[in-house]
Amino acid sequence: MQHVTPQTWKDPPPESIGTSIKAFLCQMRGPTWIDITGADTSRTRVLVTLLHGNEPSGVKALFHWLRDPLRAIPRTNMSIFVCSVEAALTEPEFSHRYLPGLPDMNRCFRPPYDSPCGYIARQVLRRITVLKPEAVVDMHNTSGAGPDFAVTTRLDPLYINLAQQFSSRLILTELHLGALMEAPVGCPIITLECGGSFDLSADQKAVTALEILSRSDNLFLAPPGPEIDLYRHPLRLEIKDGVSLTYGEQAEPGYDVTLAFDIEKHNFGITGPGEPLGWVPHDGLDYFTAINDQGLDIKHDLFQVIDGVLHVKLPLRLFMITPRPEIAIKDCLFYLVKATP
Ligand SMILES: [Zn+2]
Repeated sequence: MQHVTPQTWKDPPPESIGTSIKAFLCQMRGPTWIDITGADTSRTRVLVTLLHGNEPSGVKALFHWLRDPLRAIPRTNMSIFVCSVEAALTEPEFSHRYLPGLPDMNRCFRPPYDSPCGYIARQVLRRITVLKPEAVVDMHNTSGAGPDFAVTTRLDPLYINLAQQFSSRLILTELHLGALMEAPVGCPIITLECGGSFDLSADQKAVTALEILSRSDNLFLAPPGPEIDLYRHPLRLEIKDGVSLTYGEQAEPGYDVTLAFDIEKHNFGITGPGEPLGWVPHDGLDYFTAINDQGLDIKHDLFQVIDGVLHVKLPLRLFMITPRPEIAIKDCLFYLVKATP
């Protein structure tokens, strides 16, 4: 892939959007900024979506929103970045997180920006800096089924109130992975995980989020209702290089680790020591790492293997559990925090 410069599409009329999401994406062909003029042109909000080509809820919501001839003029200017169009269109559609041979786009928003994805990332950051938006929302889907949640890198009231417009759950992380939300963009920025890639509830969450982003007068006023559920500094359970992994109903011969086929059911609930997560050899914890913020691997404090079955050692809240081995191996099996009663 050559270095690509994102194109800009300004105020597309509804009839130009196409009759299907595929037609909409085919018109863009590559990473595209869609700029919509708002009622108050002195303010701008940025929405980023499709950083991952297999996470369609944001672009589906955008397609329906742009096609709606009765759509209200947004409160402010909206600059919407649709990123991994080519990956999304690669057959089978919406199955490629990124193009084969390229890095994960949402790990490229930090120097040295030397890959084709890094080149795009640097241009996105530069344009956000020029736009001086009041907020940036980066809309994703999780690879496993589960409820929506927001992610922030700063525990600042503006960030919390922004997140609370969109979700009742907020994860605070200081992990430095090269994600867009870690980059200094000069305004509050959150990631919104709408839910599973093919969950109807995730598509509905994306539609609602786009409505709020385009229609709310003030994104930084705490909405009425209960305080947001805050999960601080999750750890990632990762699997070491070279360890083979599958999912099943029992230990699968030929694999080092078999995770329970229905492990997604633990997403955001409290998982106790009695609940089996999968099957590993008796020394199987050696296959994993769970690094805390002091850089220590504390997997033995969190997990245990009893009779070849993997369990938590204390109540944990697990989330972003993926049922896909290739993502679990390349990224992580899931995130976790200690559950507070
Ligand atoms: Zn994503």
